[in-house]
Amino acid sequence: MTVSLPLVFDAPRRGMPPRHLADLDAEGRRAAVEELGLPKFRADQIARQYYARLQADPARMTDLPAAVREKIGDALFPPLLSVVKHVACDAGETRKTLWRAGDGTLLESVLMRYPDRATLCISSQAGCGMACPFCATGQGGLNRNLSTAEIVDQVRAAAAALRDGEVAGGPGRLSNIVFMGMGEPLANYKRVVAAVRRITSPAPDGLGISQRNVVVSTVGLAPAIRKLADEGLSVTLAVSLHTPDDELRDTLVPVNNRWPIAEVLDATRYYADKTGRRVSVEYALIRDINDHPWRADMLGEKLHKALGSRVHVNVIPLNPTPGSKWDASPKPVEQEFVRRVNAQGVPCTVRDTRGQEIAAACGQLAAEN
Ligand code: SAH
Repeated sequence: MTVSLPLVFDAPRRGMPPRHLADLDAEGRRAAVEELGLPKFRADQIARQYYARLQADPARMTDLPAAVREKIGDALFPPLLSVVKHVACDAGETRKTLWRAGDGTLLESVLMRYPDRATLCISSQAGCGMACPFCATGQGGLNRNLSTAEIVDQVRAAAAALRDGEVAGGPGRLSNIVFMGMGEPLANYKRVVAAVRRITSPAPDGLGISQRNVVVSTVGLAPAIRKLADEGLSVTLAVSLHTPDDELRDTLVPVNNRWPIAEVLDATRYYADKTGRRVSVEYALIRDINDHPWRADMLGEKLHKALGSRVHVNVIPLNPTPGSKWDASPKPVEQEFVRRVNAQGVPCTVRDTRGQEIAAACGQLAAEN
């Protein structure tokens, strides 16, 4: 039952949600269950409901006695995310969800189905503090970090929707996760790493998605990249480079003023060395801004020198944000750019751009609301 409060009491509380099951690791979960005066074995039972059966509503955890359901509901399942709306395109195979958190904060995730996989693009922050001028999320600034549970629950909800056949293409399994929604994941480091562990651990500790199928995308916070390299995870690192020269990158990715390209590439090489994983470099191609042949050559050279063949460049045609003076490059310019990077011995491809007509790129739907 919901009680509606007079508007004056209903003002959004801009803060982290109360503790949720998905914020806790196995030990924390057991401690929380014991605090409630319940036997320890309930902890794994509840976790199995959440991570294996994808059930987030304690009232429906029917293998638990009613009194237990109520107790754990109050203590470990605070309201986390509710759907504001779903918007679909690409014959329903791309679906964007706008979520409202418990305090009124808006965030979004995008599910993309392909013949061989299903990828969910998730948010790690509401808004973003990195201020990249071509990105819709960057224009609004940072609202707040998301909690670990708010990150994990985007994944649980999408996995449940796919399993239950709610997305065009019939029932399916969520296979890939990319931290390319709203926010800078490495600026919410601890919660993001905890979320990665929850997303990738096998049940009852997590959702069991392969670490190799998780991409953490960053503007290039060099010290945090090094720290991530030491976590013992096998996730793919994607670095949003967008240009090989510091002069332009200082404006396209303002945090470059703090950690310039050489430092970002050093940290990226450390990541590749430590994890044995090939890294990705993201390059949003913007007409007459960063699409010059000499930039393609310089990009190929610098990456080859830093990483050899352990790097792959994804060119992303710019998805213009409302009111932006920038546009994507013409196809021939894009093709020449890709050819030149490849010619330096660095594999480079153009990333498929799903969901443009539903403003699925980078914070646009939340910005519209
Ligand atoms: N903050 C992280 C992750 C979120 S953005 C990062 O910057 O990597 C995910 C990717 O989308 C980044 O490479 C980002 O630069 C890119 N991007 C943002 N706005 C875009 C736009 N309008 N068109 C194309 N790519 C965009």
